[in-house]
Amino acid sequence: MSISQRVKLAIVRRRLSSSKIASGSESALEIWEQNKLRADFKRSAELRKAIDRDDLGTIERPDMREYQLYKFRMQMANVMENSYYYRKKYEAAGVKPEDIRTWDDLQKVPLTEPADLAAEPFTFLCVSQSKVMRAFTTSGTTGTRKRLFYTQNDVLNIIDSIAAALKTVGMTEKDTLQIMFPAVAAWDPGLMLDSACKVAGMRSVVSSTVDIDEQVQAMKDNGTSVMIGLTSFLYRVTVLARDKYDLRSFGMKAIICSAEPLSEAMRKEMISSWGCPVLAQYGMTEMGLATSIECDEYDGLHLNDADFLVECVDPETGKHVGDREPGELVFTSLSMEGSPLLRYRSYDLSCTIEPPCGCGFRTVGKIGKVQGRLDAQTKIGYGQKIFPLLFDEAILPVPGVVSYTVLLEREGFRDRLTFTVEHDGNEDEVRAKVLEALNALDEVQSARENDLILEPVVTLIPAGSVEFAPKSKTIIDRRPNYDAPEKRRA
Ligand SMILES: [Zn+2]
Repeated sequence: MSISQRVKLAIVRRRLSSSKIASGSESALEIWEQNKLRADFKRSAELRKAIDRDDLGTIERPDMREYQLYKFRMQMANVMENSYYYRKKYEAAGVKPEDIRTWDDLQKVPLTEPADLAAEPFTFLCVSQSKVMRAFTTSGTTGTRKRLFYTQNDVLNIIDSIAAALKTVGMTEKDTLQIMFPAVAAWDPGLMLDSACKVAGMRSVVSSTVDIDEQVQAMKDNGTSVMIGLTSFLYRVTVLARDKYDLRSFGMKAIICSAEPLSEAMRKEMISSWGCPVLAQYGMTEMGLATSIECDEYDGLHLNDADFLVECVDPETGKHVGDREPGELVFTSLSMEGSPLLRYRSYDLSCTIEPPCGCGFRTVGKIGKVQGRLDAQTKIGYGQKIFPLLFDEAILPVPGVVSYTVLLEREGFRDRLTFTVEHDGNEDEVRAKVLEALNALDEVQSARENDLILEPVVTLIPAGSVEFAPKSKTIIDRRPNYDAPEKRRA
């Protein structure tokens, strides 16, 4: 590192508030969020009025909610002044920032569709282009690619929040984080994580190879104590490495599963193999990646409430659903300067959970584990909803199974489900057990009783015969005339 880089790092470290929180503090993330509230409370008379106190004292949950509504009003005023898209949209809806006083009031504000962002990204830009530090285009099929803009403050804030989250997971200056995402262009999660570790004084190693032995070697060489990566890839490493290596001897402190849903079946296998907590992390590229992380209570993911306002709505009506009731997550970036998004539809199915949490967090909300995407959900038989996580829970506990895909086809009036299962076990045993697990699913049983699906077909392929492809579609729907939700979105 050059001297100028070191000086820059020192300045950044001093500016970031996560550096003031002791490492290994289990409540680091909550303290970090509360510190933001405290700082704004000092600065803003409007916030003091909203919270209705002159002296803040102990922060309670309703204070955090008032803080979010206050920041929502500020952000709404900002986008109405600076974003062409939002000015037009909110003027047409006849809604103003001052109309938003309660949580219910949020429903007066129209939702933002990802397709709008994809179509006209510059109408979302709220700062002059010279203030944009990073502009990037998300991956995704043509037509759904989105261009996003981040200022220097945005990037630093994201790094700061990641550093606070890593401390919450138990990382200290003595730990090394192994970052195991496949190399991607544009907005690289590895780059943000790497920077977060550097400013927090922790060690990190970016290891993007898909080769299992190389990943294990990197753990040995670097004394890795925390891993983060794509859920399916971390699972793959676990299943393929555990017969060759004594994974418990690595002394792993935590494994963080990112970017894809984590099934309980996967979690169980990984915990028993490594002997450490296996946590889900959730973020959206449009929100700057880091919005929430699970604690070892395994009852939902703690949100960064200081920077995001998260609602859960019925995808059909757009109305709020209750605590722990399933629905679609809707995000507002409360702090973002570049291209802030308000009430942005995620198309991800989950729920919101009010504190307190068993881990001790009192003021910070949670989301439930994400079940999958609305557009990954489909129906079989007589309308039984199926989604990848359903099959994960059935198939992955079968010994020897590494991964699988499902092909949906139509034969006459019946659906045919063909499972291609990658395994390293005994063929006959794996096939019999996978079939048994599938036939035990209510969704499959009911469709079979109604004679609307054929007996599921299981095709086996040996482990390692397919190359690992990140975010490959688990359910492939080839039925004719099938009205897939993603087609409606276009
Ligand atoms: Zn917790």
